[in-house]
Amino acid sequence: MASEACAAARALVASAHRITVLTGAGVSTDSGIPDFRGPDGLWTRDADAGLAASLDAYLCDPEVRRRSWRAKLDSPVWTAKPNAAHRALVELERSGRLRTVVTQNIDGLHQKAGSDPHRVLELHGTLHATVCLGCGATGPMRDALRRVAEGEQEPDCPRCRGILKSATVSFGQELDGEVLHRARLAALDCDVLLVAGTSLSVQPAAGLVPLAAKAGAQVVICNAEPTPYDSVAAVVLHEPVADVLPDLSSVPPSGGGRF
Ligand code: NAD
Repeated sequence: MASEACAAARALVASAHRITVLTGAGVSTDSGIPDFRGPDGLWTRDADAGLAASLDAYLCDPEVRRRSWRAKLDSPVWTAKPNAAHRALVELERSGRLRTVVTQNIDGLHQKAGSDPHRVLELHGTLHATVCLGCGATGPMRDALRRVAEGEQEPDCPRCRGILKSATVSFGQELDGEVLHRARLAALDCDVLLVAGTSLSVQPAAGLVPLAAKAGAQVVICNAEPTPYDSVAAVVLHEPVADVLPDLSSVPPSGGGRF
């Protein structure tokens, strides 16, 4: 990669001591998991799909729940493998400068690639677990999916028989306060915020970008399409993340580093 913008991004990453990364669905499209709003995204192709993703619809309509469980059985997430973008972030973490990966993804691919699970903040939860909307009990998704595969249309909570849902954040549902708090601290305490594969159209995740910029971080945005926050970024790269992230993570630190 040879553009001026790439050179500028490399220089910023090379001189950074504390890097926070914010990722979105675009880092997993090369792993076979479609995004929502990209040119081939699920919601670009089917505008009504987004409406069914609300908590209200899930709570009120048993057919929405049944459809959701059937769709989960066939999710590409279960067989997806991490790609070069996920692996590049593991490499950057091993260099000692990447402190935190804040992800909007629910696929667990950062951890599967080898990112330290303690450094990965899943803002929108995970598809690999279930939560009961009645008693709050959590459990492994595979247990619920086994019941669906055996013929149950809508598995209920094994403890209280309440409504069971994936441990993901739907529209109309609060984010985990502690996870959001840690994500904001990571945005405030970095010298480079590297944003990859997200349309930055979902709040409060997108708000981490101006928060970091106001606190003095240099923001590098790598996304196939423009985002509403391109104007606060020091560098914007409209390139595939699986090309850009390996390129950036292979840059040796300049200036010796403080750690
Ligand atoms: P989004 O669909 O709104 O945006 C993804 C962006 O990535 C798009 O602008 C697209 O052009 C870009 N993109 C796609 N492939 C790319 C590539 N290879 N290189 C560079 N850019 C690429 O996704 P979002 O911003 O993450 O927000 C949507 C919500 O969707 C999140 O809340 C997330 O929880 C959920 N989601 C998650 C997954 C997942 O876990 N993999 C998949 C779909 C949706």
